[in-house]
Amino acid sequence: MEHSLEISLHQNFKEAQLAGRYLPIEVLESLVINLPSVFEVRELGKSVEGRNIYTVKVGSGKTKILVWSQMHGNESTTTKAVFDFFNFLANAEEAKEILDHTTFLVIPYLNPDGIKAYTRENANVIDLNRDARDLSQPESILFKQVYEGFQPEYAFNLHDQRTIYGTKNYNKTSSLSFLAPAYNSDREINKNREEAMQIIALMNQKLSKYIPEQIGRYDDGFNLNCVGDTLQSLNIPTILFEAGHFPEDYDREETRKLIFMALYHSVKGIMGETQYNFSIEDYYLIPEIEKSFVDVVLRNLAIGNKIVDVAVLYQEKLVGNRIEFLPFIEKIETNISLFGHREIDFTHKKIENAVADFKVGNLLNSVKTETEIFSLKLTNY
Ligand SMILES: [Zn+2]
Repeated sequence: MEHSLEISLHQNFKEAQLAGRYLPIEVLESLVINLPSVFEVRELGKSVEGRNIYTVKVGSGKTKILVWSQMHGNESTTTKAVFDFFNFLANAEEAKEILDHTTFLVIPYLNPDGIKAYTRENANVIDLNRDARDLSQPESILFKQVYEGFQPEYAFNLHDQRTIYGTKNYNKTSSLSFLAPAYNSDREINKNREEAMQIIALMNQKLSKYIPEQIGRYDDGFNLNCVGDTLQSLNIPTILFEAGHFPEDYDREETRKLIFMALYHSVKGIMGETQYNFSIEDYYLIPEIEKSFVDVVLRNLAIGNKIVDVAVLYQEKLVGNRIEFLPFIEKIETNISLFGHREIDFTHKKIENAVADFKVGNLLNSVKTETEIFSLKLTNY
């Protein structure tokens, strides 16, 4: 990536205690508790297993923005970016104007039990992003209290997406994707949804120069049990941010930077009202995302008496305080049309693995030929 103001801002304010995919809940909690006094930290309530959930308020401006991250416990990238953004707000000269204009209420992590266990769901195995209407979980009830009490003008819903998504027709990895969620089942566009689309179009314009054709538009199927759809239906312009895969960045440190930049540009845009320079059409010009990638594709493998392609997806497994990426066979076919973030061609190579290694659902750590061993394991993550 080339250098620019927002990249140097991120370098200057990146939170050094957070890195990689697994963020220990103790580290996150200590960062929250020790935020400088410009931040008003409140204990909002407790998770199913009794862990604290916090809100962090900062700024004194009239524009109220609600931000929440890691309602899915295994989606940590945006949480790293939120703490980077806190450092920026606390220390950057440029942030003063933003804090005069804006009041942020941030839930840095809504699902501490899921963070501890590195699971999408909470401790009761409920997806909190399918519980906005049922309100069956304490975390969902707390979240509702927050948005009802704060009455935000804008809502930012922060997530990670899997490595399987690419941008339609461009066939690039979707490193970031966005959605202005629908507010009704006809997916109509009202004033607040239009404004969410305009802010997304603004972010797309600012960030496309760094990741051309790698910004995608998420599917807008309507589900009132999703919190974004619920907030949009309450006439709050709501934006879903999805941190995706950047080439060779399974730690998602590049994507962390991109999310920081997206937060920076969305907030600056709202402050300067420059989102109104963008249209609904600009939003729809962003390519849709589609499931077009897997982590690895092994091409033209001679197995038994057939030539096949093998698609491999990593399963993320928490081991101690780090995530291991285990290569599992997803699909075996002739000519797999999916793209691999890594592709290895075995044309004219004699495979020395047992034929039985190649079954869908098998763990496949390496492929051996007469002369080489191709390890599929990721190292240094
Ligand atoms: Zn998510």
